[in-house]
Amino acid sequence: MTQQQLLLRLKDLDEQTARYETQRQRNGLSAYEERLARVSEELSVKTARIGLIESDSTETELAEIEKAIARLEGSLSRSTSYDTALLKNELAPLREQKAALEDRALHQMLELEELQPQLPGLRASLLEVQQELEEARPEEQERLDNLTMRLEALARERGEVTALLPQEVVNVYAKTGRVDEIKQGRCRCRLEVPDHFQRQIRAGNAWVCNTCGSLIIQNLNP
Ligand SMILES: [Zn+2]
Repeated sequence: MTQQQLLLRLKDLDEQTARYETQRQRNGLSAYEERLARVSEELSVKTARIGLIESDSTETELAEIEKAIARLEGSLSRSTSYDTALLKNELAPLREQKAALEDRALHQMLELEELQPQLPGLRASLLEVQQELEEARPEEQERLDNLTMRLEALARERGEVTALLPQEVVNVYAKTGRVDEIKQGRCRCRLEVPDHFQRQIRAGNAWVCNTCGSLIIQNLNP
């Protein structure tokens, strides 16, 4: 192989390597992991909300108020006319509190009725996604192993190719990662390439420009 062919092969190997590296960075399980996080978050938020409602003191407070009201109403039935006005004054705010508590209890009941039936479905989804994730793991591992194998093969061939090129050419390529074409006898930097170097380039050799440090070959797409 000429230096030009070797350099183009080197470029090709590096491009493939970059592609496989990108594929290896990608997490093939991320869709499952995101779904798992979403379902588990929803389940924990709803479970916590149910716990909060169930441990709420509304029912106890309501029972206390009802007892107080019953007591006052008992006194009212036995009271004199002077006491009646006082007792009625005491009763009014208690009845308001009772109404507010009943309202709250009703809302909590409705919320529980909405939330509780959702839990079994969410638990089932959680198990399902967990299972899907576990099932996807071996396939993902296989994908990664396959990429690693290909990358190792590319690295081996890269070693073979660079060993066949002059050290200076390899160094320049390593520094810039690029190879350029000679155009109308000139380098990228417009410098006219001396005749005998042009002949060498035509023969398939690579040439390093002293002025701009470019790596020049005859044809990028031979
Ligand atoms: Zn140049």
